[in-house]
Amino acid sequence: MTTKQTLIDESKAVKVLVEKLKGEALTKDYGLRHPKERAEYRRNRYLNNREYYKKQTQHWRTVNRDRARKQFQEYARTHSEELRAYRQAHREQIYQSILKYQQRYPERFRQIHLTASRNHTARKNKAEGSFTEIEFQAKCKEYDNRCAYCGTLKPLEADHMVPLVRGGTNTIDNIIPACKSCNCAKGTLTYEEYITRLHKEANPNE
Ligand SMILES: [Zn+2]
Repeated sequence: MTTKQTLIDESKAVKVLVEKLKGEALTKDYGLRHPKERAEYRRNRYLNNREYYKKQTQHWRTVNRDRARKQFQEYARTHSEELRAYRQAHREQIYQSILKYQQRYPERFRQIHLTASRNHTARKNKAEGSFTEIEFQAKCKEYDNRCAYCGTLKPLEADHMVPLVRGGTNTIDNIIPACKSCNCAKGTLTYEEYITRLHKEANPNE
């Protein structure tokens, strides 16, 4: 039975529902209609919880190391000016954190430093290619972490089979592990030339 009263009640309920939906729609796209306020709100939320967001980012970076590295490389490529300015403004701070890393991980630091300076030399010599520390470590493993020339277990360096100054590339296929003294003694000889020399020295009467 439809009485006048139920009709009034129903129309009231509909009105309430419409108002409720309107309200939801308003809050939903509030951010879209007020981008400035939304940005401001997010910025404040970040600033008030800085430590929390910092930790979150750090955690993401350790879990997604490769993606983080790629992202940074892409950022560095498109923001070289900003980065240079940042480095200049934070010189001391950067120096201190490098120093801290060196004290904490001396061997890793030595390796990273070597890789960087090798790639730098290669660029200076306009050699083609570069290789990473991980690729070099894999190469050392192939040689049981021994010098390719004398077989010693001493700390290993990357030796260019065809030296850069003689047109060799700086790619991993031109690299073998060598101890410091073999690398020095080899100088600008190629792998073949140096092996021949070592053989002659060991068998002078041949
Ligand atoms: Zn050696």
